[in-house]
Amino acid sequence: MTVLRAGSATDVGRRRANNQDMVLVDDPLFAVADGMGGYAGGEVASSTAIDALRETFGSSPTSEGLEAALLDANAAVQEASRESPDLRNMGTTMVAVALVHEDGADLFAVASIGDSRVYLFRAGELSKLTDDHSVAEELLRSGQISEAEAAVHPQRHMLTRVLGPGGETTPDFQKLVPYAGDRLLLCSDGLYNEVTDREMAEILATVAGPDEAARRLVALANDHGGGDNISVVVIDVVDDGDRAASASRDIGGGPLLSSAERNAALRAIGEDRPPSGGGGAGPGAAHAGPGAARRSDQQIADQNDLDNGRRVGRAGGRVAAGQWSAPLEHDVPARRITGRVVAFLVALVVILAAAVAAIGWYARGSYYVGLRDGTVAIFKGRPGGLLWFQPTVEQTTDLHEAQLPASRAGDVAAGHETTSMAEARRYVANLRDLAGLGATATTTTTVQDPASGSATSTVPPPIVAPAP
Ligand code: MG
Repeated sequence: MTVLRAGSATDVGRRRANNQDMVLVDDPLFAVADGMGGYAGGEVASSTAIDALRETFGSSPTSEGLEAALLDANAAVQEASRESPDLRNMGTTMVAVALVHEDGADLFAVASIGDSRVYLFRAGELSKLTDDHSVAEELLRSGQISEAEAAVHPQRHMLTRVLGPGGETTPDFQKLVPYAGDRLLLCSDGLYNEVTDREMAEILATVAGPDEAARRLVALANDHGGGDNISVVVIDVVDDGDRAASASRDIGGGPLLSSAERNAALRAIGEDRPPSGGGGAGPGAAHAGPGAARRSDQQIADQNDLDNGRRVGRAGGRVAAGQWSAPLEHDVPARRITGRVVAFLVALVVILAAAVAAIGWYARGSYYVGLRDGTVAIFKGRPGGLLWFQPTVEQTTDLHEAQLPASRAGDVAAGHETTSMAEARRYVANLRDLAGLGATATTTTTVQDPASGSATSTVPPPIVAPAP
């Protein structure tokens, strides 16, 4: 069972006369709406939409219920607009997240329209889940302008889709598999126009309580100028019924980030932080433009991955069944190859290599006198071999097994070990002497390839020295 903990904060900011944003924290439903349409209109639009959203979803707490709730919110804003000339053309953005249960599993259903956003903070990385429905962002997504151009586009704040004005509405919908440790951030543009993605990630990584995290984000936006109303909802997945651990095991990964690892990720982020402006608290002092323009390459790549997996295009404003994008299963954090893992593997290889070398030295570091096809021979290695190191014949003799004195036959049959070739030769000479064959004899010497065991060369026969 998935367990959530959520907090929120909303503030008028430092330049607006009233707060036209509205937040909703009503587990399992969460939302942010950013109203527009004159002094009164925006406030009415956002609150009307939130009320309708809550009512409809409350009667049908499913992903289909969320679709219907967005449509009902749109209709409610339109109806309120028709009832008062002062409220004509009012509208509102909306991002809504609902924890729903489908096919035996818990899922986040995510709806968005306008330029309010939903971010996912998972495994130390912040990803924007939703698309902005603004002129500049639409041009950017269609490839007509660059990210840099979108950041300064004169119509970057002009919205292409909202709840209220016009007829039917076309929200985007997606689903997300929740994992313990995930944080979802819902916000109005008053946050991301003032606070960089890096700063958001920093606060999400370090501030444990969702309420406190939301307040810190709003405070930072005000510190940076507070040019608009600022609204934030933070949702923590505090328990996922062992889903994350199971998924991690399935992909061979380790546990998700602990709080300590999360803090370590944050410190890494902090080291990369650009120096802040020289005391400037103004809106442009430390920021180059809208948050989208300040995304890192990795975040852009992440967003592309998300886009490839979830884009939902719909026409005509009706949300048809089956048009939800697939849950983002692929975004499960996998175990990473860290420096410690590499160091451990290198150390393991060194230890194994040293062990093999030691065994080889022991197995091939001595000689013995034994029998080969009934004839006495000198071998290099250990009698019978050791592991994959087999003895090789270093020298053969003309001394047959039958000629050996009875007192030495068993010793030779078992393999008489010596520490050197010279010692082995003296032992053979002594055997010849005991056998009455004389002190010297001609022998043949065959050097064998230790790897293949086959003869590789033949050298002139040495003379076996007499026993001392
Ligand atoms: Mg706004």
